Amino acid sequence: MKTSSNLRLPKNTPDLRRIGHFLLKFSRLAAACLIWTGLSAVPVFAAPLQEPVQDPASCSLLLSRLDLEKPGLEKVKAAVNHPEIAAAELLAFYRSRTSVKHPVDRSQKGASRGNCASNNDLETADQALKHIFVGQPAYPPHFCGEEINWGSRPVPDNEWVWQLNRMYFWDAMALAYWHTGDEKYAQEWCYQLTDWVRKNPRDEAHGYAWRSIEAGIRGYRWTGLFQRFIDSPAFTPAVLVSFLNSCYDHASYLMTRYTKGSNWALMEAEGMAFIAFTFPEFKAAGSWKEEAISRLNQEIENQVYPDGHQRELAIGYHLGCIGWFDRTLELAKMNGLEHAFPPSYRSTIEKMCEVPLKLGMPDGSNTQFGDSWKGNPGQNWGNLKRWAKTFGRDDFLYVATEGKEGKKPAETAFALDKSGLYSLRSGWDKNDICLVLKCGPDGGGHCQPDNGTFELYAGGRHLMPDAGSYIYSGDPVNRAWFRQTKVHQTLTLDEKNTSYAPRLLLWQPGAKLDVLVVENAGYPDLTHRRALFFVDRKYFVIVDEAFGEGNGNVDIHFQFAPGAASFDHQQLTARTAFEEGWNVLVQTVAQDGLKMEEEEGQVSFLYTKKEPRPAFRYRLRKETRGVRFVTVVAPYSGEAPDIKVKIMGKPEIGGSRLSLKVSENGRSKRIGYDFSTN
Ligand code: CA
Repeated sequence: MKTSSNLRLPKNTPDLRRIGHFLLKFSRLAAACLIWTGLSAVPVFAAPLQEPVQDPASCSLLLSRLDLEKPGLEKVKAAVNHPEIAAAELLAFYRSRTSVKHPVDRSQKGASRGNCASNNDLETADQALKHIFVGQPAYPPHFCGEEINWGSRPVPDNEWVWQLNRMYFWDAMALAYWHTGDEKYAQEWCYQLTDWVRKNPRDEAHGYAWRSIEAGIRGYRWTGLFQRFIDSPAFTPAVLVSFLNSCYDHASYLMTRYTKGSNWALMEAEGMAFIAFTFPEFKAAGSWKEEAISRLNQEIENQVYPDGHQRELAIGYHLGCIGWFDRTLELAKMNGLEHAFPPSYRSTIEKMCEVPLKLGMPDGSNTQFGDSWKGNPGQNWGNLKRWAKTFGRDDFLYVATEGKEGKKPAETAFALDKSGLYSLRSGWDKNDICLVLKCGPDGGGHCQPDNGTFELYAGGRHLMPDAGSYIYSGDPVNRAWFRQTKVHQTLTLDEKNTSYAPRLLLWQPGAKLDVLVVENAGYPDLTHRRALFFVDRKYFVIVDEAFGEGNGNVDIHFQFAPGAASFDHQQLTARTAFEEGWNVLVQTVAQDGLKMEEEEGQVSFLYTKKEPRPAFRYRLRKETRGVRFVTVVAPYSGEAPDIKVKIMGKPEIGGSRLSLKVSENGRSKRIGYDFSTN
């Protein structure tokens, strides 16, 4: 859509800017007048709007893209030689259409007054009215100009401009509109929508706006925005023409972009599906729908391991993928097309929904493996509560309600053996101990070379969180730092990064002892075997063996939560030093040549935010076929436990048998493994 105005306004004059928007929007409009609402200086229409004159070429283009034989489009078809009338008829059609169902139900507009926007939505929306936009939300909102520059780059991080072009703030404006009933949100959205469409043709100069995931995200979100704004008087036939032509461009583009094997494919398909389902009047809608559904059916096979985890092995993306798979299924269901998805599609989604129960921390937050953030306590519980209902799962409900409702999960140890993610917990209370270990295949760009690493939580505290990922773009040095193998709780040779070559040797959960043995052949000439014993559901014994021809400095690394820590290099112990609540003790068994050294530690719990933390390693010089570390990791409250471990006999490093005698405060028992008979 084109605007005819060449109006340019002086900078930094908000009142004039508002008038400018108004004039730009309705510069051809003869009979409208303004009154001012005092302080807010937002125009309010005193007279009913007349329809702005259409751009006939855009109208005709749109009409050529629609199947005018569809029932309900008779009047549009009759006016096909008068595009402006046809556009008005098309708008009338959409306002009265009831055949298409969408998760945003237009009939709820009135009932949503006063109860659908959060304070944060309202603030975001009010800022957006002033063109102060949220891009990547870790950075401050940014004023993108009276004349909006959709390519604004206030920070070096490209994520900002990419996310600007997802326009999440439009969703806030839509919610603010329904919440307050104030037409200013609809007027401004209609202005911004047509402005964006006009300024962002899909060409090389506008690549920032047209990565396929932004296109997919918009395709999905815009259909919801359509539902929220179409009943506003500001949503004119001209807005409809601009909007629908852009939807057509989005879906046509997404047909040509298919990023197989990645979460991108799901956003691409979702955008296409939502446009196709919401606007079946497009001639191409059937083929868009078919392609989108076919991709989702294909990708759920490609991307989800039989154990339920999405193949990129980062929990945030896993949770995102549940939404991407599920929303189109729900939309299809609403519109009578559920049969396009086989029953296995839904059961796979259910399996995916088990993952935050199995691998989530007892406080309802998550591990930070790969590009992930632990999030707030309880952040999994809303999802689990919803899925409890969807899938009739009492165990989801139990965890989501902190045991107030539902039924306690029968197990406390879970192996996702294809993903290489394992959890061991002492129970289902939020103060219970929980350790999650990762030793899986390469999950691609959101995965880190961290095989063997683990996170430990106890007594409501993330005692040994993963470092996280800090940033995606614009700071390659720090991004690389967080991705290093040696900043994970695992073994390295000469501090080099490992590759992914995982193997599960033993998974043996039990009431008094859980045993997990994994290997990662992470170097061409060195394999790391890690045996993890969860003894009496109280403490862990970790036996690390490194074997192969590779020689050099073999380290095992550990990192604590931010805060004070104490190190005893003589006793080879390190512990957190929280005055209240739970701590963790790490102690390795002494051996010749073993050194304990502190290391640089960082952890990031929020995008672009990081903080120092205690970190250390135990180092052995490997000059023979193998080395072995035997280490206790014991969470505790009050006094540190006295735990001693002794290797029985002389087991071969990398061999099939291992036997240890452990004693805790004087009580001893034998633990070990023997897979020689397997
Ligand atoms: Ca990590």
